[in-house]
Amino acid sequence: MTEEILDPLVISEQQFDNACQYIQHLQSGLVDFLKQPKRIHIIHFPIEMDDCSVRTFRCFRVIHNRVFGPGKGGIRYHPEVTEAEVISLAKLMTWKCALVNIPFGGAKGGICCDPKSLSTSELRRITRRFTSDLLEVIGPHTDIPAPDMYTDEQTMAWIYDTYDVLNPGRNNRPVVTGKPIELGGSYGRTESTGRGCLYVTERFLSKGLIPEMSDVAGASVVIQGFGNVGSIAAQEFCRQGARIVALSDSSGCIFAESGLDLDRVIQFKKEHGCLVGMPDTMTLTNEELIELDCDILIPAAVGNQIHAGNAHNIKAKLIVEAANNPTTPVADRILHQRGIYLIPDIIANAGGVTVSYFEWVQNHANEQWDLETVNDKLKRKLYGCVDTVFKRWQGFVVGEEKCADKLTGEQLGCPDFRTVALVTAIERVANATLLRGIWP
Ligand code: NAD
Repeated sequence: MTEEILDPLVISEQQFDNACQYIQHLQSGLVDFLKQPKRIHIIHFPIEMDDCSVRTFRCFRVIHNRVFGPGKGGIRYHPEVTEAEVISLAKLMTWKCALVNIPFGGAKGGICCDPKSLSTSELRRITRRFTSDLLEVIGPHTDIPAPDMYTDEQTMAWIYDTYDVLNPGRNNRPVVTGKPIELGGSYGRTESTGRGCLYVTERFLSKGLIPEMSDVAGASVVIQGFGNVGSIAAQEFCRQGARIVALSDSSGCIFAESGLDLDRVIQFKKEHGCLVGMPDTMTLTNEELIELDCDILIPAAVGNQIHAGNAHNIKAKLIVEAANNPTTPVADRILHQRGIYLIPDIIANAGGVTVSYFEWVQNHANEQWDLETVNDKLKRKLYGCVDTVFKRWQGFVVGEEKCADKLTGEQLGCPDFRTVALVTAIERVANATLLRGIWP
């Protein structure tokens, strides 16, 4: 068997090309434009560490597309951040923003560092230096960062403060989203990605594609990752009557057939810094977690977790991609053939960028909406997004939708939900590009 290619750029290109087969009349020159990032910034800077030594950090900010508005995308701090990964994530943001219909383009950033080994003051100096080096790039109307893996509202507060100190005399709050409430953050932003996972799952299940599961109540749920997204998703699904049977973090997985007590899990994680070792649970690996018998599997950690090597063994009836890029194209094909439904990342975790957009709107208007308003608007946006993709998918199923030039629908087969979501998003960006008129 040939080795599966896990390069994030190759994967995003395969997903894009696959979707293009279902899009009619897309000019090849436009395809080239949509595939390429608009700008890539690679930055190196030195930082004085707490022990007075000096270390140089490598960082990226990529703007993929700005046809719909300013670049929007998180910043991740991780030792394995690469240029290719950041480019692929910036592309994903373009399609995500287009799909949920918010006036942003796609961007992403990353710093190669191990945040677990850095002190708070070192992280603050790194964040301030990164922001000051990006002063000409980011801005309330040009490119707006947000949290991602191992960055949080404290990181966003430092970015806002640095930008504001260096650009005095104007309202700079909309330069970054995911800020603390006291600094113009939105109610519900921290919870929005995990909560959004629940909303899209509920809406998807209401369509009746999985007859024995019309809502999440009573469903057994497995979640990989117990950070911001995974821990909130666990609590939201639990509140709606789901049974969380397994959870994991980078230390490994905890499993309890009868369901985990989330309050105790949160307390244990707070006290011990990891999940493994929690009393009355069985310890498994993150690889074993993916293949557990359950109704809903939610990858909420890192990329490429569902791949050619384990897709055949997955027992879940539905996969909800809370993480970005957790499933490879080969795994997508296997799951599709096996009749396992998957709600792709550009829908499943779009709650985060949606409430980021609400935060940006509130900051421009100097307003603060209450939590009920935010959740209500979020639910409506995400339900609308699921409905749009589902309707489009039905069109392909019954043959109303035609495929691109050479191949017939029969030859291509019915697309999966990732492909239909991408088709919808790519068409929107392509149409908007042409409507604006190619410059000059
Ligand atoms: P986080 O840093 O808060 O949490 C990450 C979690 O993943 C931690 O529990 C960590 O222990 C775990 N983890 C790390 N490496 C792992 C591994 N190899 N195997 C298993 N678990 C591992 O990050 P987050 O904000 O919760 O983001 C999680 C995912 O969701 C990422 O893919 C991110 O891009 C995506 N996402 C986040 C947001 C957001 O608003 N935070 C929005 C959209 C998408």
